[in-house]
Amino acid sequence: MAAPAPAVADPKAKEVDCTRVKCVALTFDDGPGKYAGKLLDILKEHDAKATFFLEGQYVKSRPAYVKRMVKEGHAVGNHSYAHPDFTKSTAATIRSEIKKTNDAIKKAAGVEPKLLRPPYGMSDLQVQDIAVEFGMPIILWTGGSRDWESKNEEKIKKQTLSVAKGNSIVLMHDWVKQTVDAMPSIIKTLQRNGYHLVTVDDVIKHEELKPGDVFPLPEGWEQ
Ligand SMILES: [Zn+2]
Repeated sequence: MAAPAPAVADPKAKEVDCTRVKCVALTFDDGPGKYAGKLLDILKEHDAKATFFLEGQYVKSRPAYVKRMVKEGHAVGNHSYAHPDFTKSTAATIRSEIKKTNDAIKKAAGVEPKLLRPPYGMSDLQVQDIAVEFGMPIILWTGGSRDWESKNEEKIKKQTLSVAKGNSIVLMHDWVKQTVDAMPSIIKTLQRNGYHLVTVDDVIKHEELKPGDVFPLPEGWEQ
């Protein structure tokens, strides 16, 4: 009996259909962080794509990284301007946090972010309503690297690989040095296991998300 063809990721493949091949979307929050440049070098070297949920204040202070992210095919999303908990903020604050960050990203890289990840992944009906106004779905994560907590290269790698499954969205941070240090090994292992490292847009392509929709939906929520 013929063995099934091994599912080896072809990192050179341009169009990735995540309904047919194994995809993982690594996402980096709160940046561009201090180590964004090194991370971008690593991603480029391994032909891997990622998604950056950027904080407006750092977009303003490190605009060159944002420009490079977009130029090198990564996705950039909105993660507020100064990271307040949106579920404890007024509507006016939430609107201003989103708008200021969209404007900063537009100024830095010429693109308008299409996805919103509220700080701490905290969302409620008010946040959803405002996301509708901005035409953005709300993107959370299916698993976390817990990098901010462990700050340990081996633990970050182990935890990331344990939550990286088909079409998963993994939360990481490019201000954690150990995350960026662990990245070559994480990417090589995932690619060797047949995963394509793609943007969140690739993973959610077939979800038909509307503005204000939350994905993945937290337990007990209804869209
Ligand atoms: Zn954050």
